[in-house]
Amino acid sequence: MIDLRSDTVTRPSAGMLAAMTSAPLGDDVYGEDPTANQLEETVAGLLGHEAGLFTVTGSLANLLGVRALVPRGGELLCEASAHVVRAELGAHAAVNGITTRTWIGPTDLTQVEALIAPDLGPYFVTTSAVSVENTHNFGGGAIQRGYDALADELESRSIPLHLDGARLWNAAVATGRTPASYAGRAAAASVCLSKGLGAPVGSVLVGSTELIREARVWRKRLGAGWRQAGVLAAAGLYALEHNIDRLAEDHANARLIAEALADAAPGSVKPDQVDTNIVVADLAATGKSVPEVVAAARTKGVLVSGIGATQLRVVTHLDASTADCRTAANLLARLLTT
Ligand SMILES: *Cc1c(COP(=O)(O)O)cnc(C)c1O
Repeated sequence: MIDLRSDTVTRPSAGMLAAMTSAPLGDDVYGEDPTANQLEETVAGLLGHEAGLFTVTGSLANLLGVRALVPRGGELLCEASAHVVRAELGAHAAVNGITTRTWIGPTDLTQVEALIAPDLGPYFVTTSAVSVENTHNFGGGAIQRGYDALADELESRSIPLHLDGARLWNAAVATGRTPASYAGRAAAASVCLSKGLGAPVGSVLVGSTELIREARVWRKRLGAGWRQAGVLAAAGLYALEHNIDRLAEDHANARLIAEALADAAPGSVKPDQVDTNIVVADLAATGKSVPEVVAAARTKGVLVSGIGATQLRVVTHLDASTADCRTAANLLARLLTT
């Protein structure tokens, strides 16, 4: 099977497993796991922040980061298909007790400014923070080019920015920017180690020392403190050292898949807009049903996902070689034209 449903499907490599089994360990609830501490310090440094917190998922890192910026009853602005509002099962409402309003499409200062609600006294909800997802998952792995302009504006208004940087590494590699040049603009930022970087588990939330101290309390309160977490942190450290630069290969592979789909179904995807490792193709004009294409691809050994009535998503990663991606591209092209 060539599994292109997500970049979460990767398995730890032999080198990564060796790093995990040889990591020095301690009890992280006591703050005594040297490997977890090293991971948190390393990621905080890479992202231009004072402190970091290793979490079991990106959803938890986002939950804790948003919780630190938005009081109960306050409002978070984000994009309508952002992971925080679409793929975290309502956690920000159910657990954080906050409300959200959304804009649609790439990060756009004008749209966000129109949504920002000032404090008008005890009648209206006030905007407490804005969240940007970069790259944007359901937005086809798009780099958010409006990020800096929005960060500037929010800074001038003293409204904190939350960055869902699950795939910030992809944005950094694709643009040649440092991860800190993005994350340093945010009051809280999360990054995933278990997406393109290939670790089996884990995300890191970064922020100020004070924000992370509070997030650590809430992580434990939610039952997600962990003990010899260094076994997993070691995988993250290994991933940071070995698997960042190679994300460029995933981007090239996504581009070749996009080109094959665009040839087979003109207009379904614009290859020059595939910034990173995610291809979202719109099959509306092909007359093909997404579930049927997904099922037919599966019978031929290629796994992809449907993410909407007419949208097919293909994600490249370190366990899918260029040859695998070519095979998948040819198969999908055939399914769209016959
Ligand atoms: C994967 C992902 C997350 C975190 O997902 P978990 O499965 O909870 O680790 C957060 N944001 C985005 C944009 C993602 O793609």
